[in-house]
Amino acid sequence: MLIELDGRLIEYRFARRRRRTLSITIDAAGLRVSAPLRAPWREIEAFVRDKERWILKKLDAWARVPHPPVVHGVSGETLPLFGAPAVLDVRAGRRLVEAHEGRVIVQAPARARPLDLLVRWLKERALQSLAPRTAHYAGVLGLPAPRLALSNARTQWGVCTEGGIIRLSWRLVHVEPRLADYVVAHEVAHLVEMNHSRRFWALVARLYPGWREARERLELTAATLPVMKGNR
Ligand SMILES: [Zn+2]
Repeated sequence: MLIELDGRLIEYRFARRRRRTLSITIDAAGLRVSAPLRAPWREIEAFVRDKERWILKKLDAWARVPHPPVVHGVSGETLPLFGAPAVLDVRAGRRLVEAHEGRVIVQAPARARPLDLLVRWLKERALQSLAPRTAHYAGVLGLPAPRLALSNARTQWGVCTEGGIIRLSWRLVHVEPRLADYVVAHEVAHLVEMNHSRRFWALVARLYPGWREARERLELTAATLPVMKGNR
């Protein structure tokens, strides 16, 4: 379907659902509008128009997001490391991975796959950088450092279990530490509030005042994470 917003013709997907409220979603797939089964058309249009500026701003932000790079583990490929691009330099030799002046050097014996060594190293780096941040934010709330585990998720950056274990995606290693901090602060706040209530967000704001902006930027960043593809 099409709607004109601020003189631009915008394509969107529309669905009626068993729900009470109208909702708008914008992601890599574009604009999506969901409405209650009996919502009158003029109400739906008014709702969308009311959010015109926000919709156009988000659509433009998504349009600027580049496609995710594919990393096979060969020399010359680029991957983001803590928010800055790093160029892969793959060599033969005894097992070794290290970062050096904008490069990640992967030294692999003949039988090892460089990509496997790289991913294992990225996970180690992720844990090394995230563990002290987790302890730091827990400390601000007067809590001991929680148990920390890594996940493989691409879109869910973190999760906090009922048992108080925080699981963070190792892919946060690609992201600027300042942004990764938001994910850590968010999950640490769940140690106190296991919900997304007002009290929870107040706690997040105390730990990480710029959380709104960080949350938005992380959403866009998720779409640019490299895809690690082994078979070649
Ligand atoms: Zn949450």
